[in-house]
Amino acid sequence: MNICTCGDEVADPDRRRFFGYAVAAGAVAAAGLGTLPAQAAALEPGQRKFMEEATRLAIESVEKGWGGPFGAVIVKDGEIIGRGQNRVLLTGCPVFHAEVTAIMDASAKLNPKALLGSYYGPGTILEMIPREPGSPDPVPERARMLKGCEIYINGAPCPMCMSAIYWSRIDHVYFGASLKDTSAIGFDDAFQYDDFTKPWADRRIAVTENFERDIGLKAFQAWTNKKDRHPY
Ligand SMILES: [Zn+2]
Repeated sequence: MNICTCGDEVADPDRRRFFGYAVAAGAVAAAGLGTLPAQAAALEPGQRKFMEEATRLAIESVEKGWGGPFGAVIVKDGEIIGRGQNRVLLTGCPVFHAEVTAIMDASAKLNPKALLGSYYGPGTILEMIPREPGSPDPVPERARMLKGCEIYINGAPCPMCMSAIYWSRIDHVYFGASLKDTSAIGFDDAFQYDDFTKPWADRRIAVTENFERDIGLKAFQAWTNKKDRHPY
């Protein structure tokens, strides 16, 4: 089997092992693309290939028994810089979703020392950039993260992944199948979006709020007191 990884330019071999995605060359290359919904066809031809790659990753995950039918790619300046696929079944990790792993992959590629968190120089995801004119953000500058990137996902993101996309400051989300489509094949994360709109006490999960708040706030105070804190 040929190994095609998305982390070729990541120097750290350990990180490459973690983020690398073994892909059987030629396998499932365009399988199933005829079933993409009409909205995918509305994408620019150059963008369609990104949705095709996200879907290829999703199909690979299904065929190998690695996880659900979900794949994602992150694109910067017309180039794929991150790939992810659902590997929940392979890893036994419930949060190993395509979008989250694509973000981790892209971050590792853009920020050579991302996991050390010690290099904030130009071109890294931790480089500080000013807020955009008219932004309601009260913080004048934040780390760049994945600003300037787009993400292509074959299915609608779950709330966890959508939050990860917000944290990443990704500019544009393109997804194919809807939450309704996802529910139809047994992945019922649509309810999570509903649950988020409810008060804590009404959620499906028992939540105790305001629990020993004074203790928790000590960490917040440590952040506030830190002179060289790095907003992100
Ligand atoms: Zn997700």
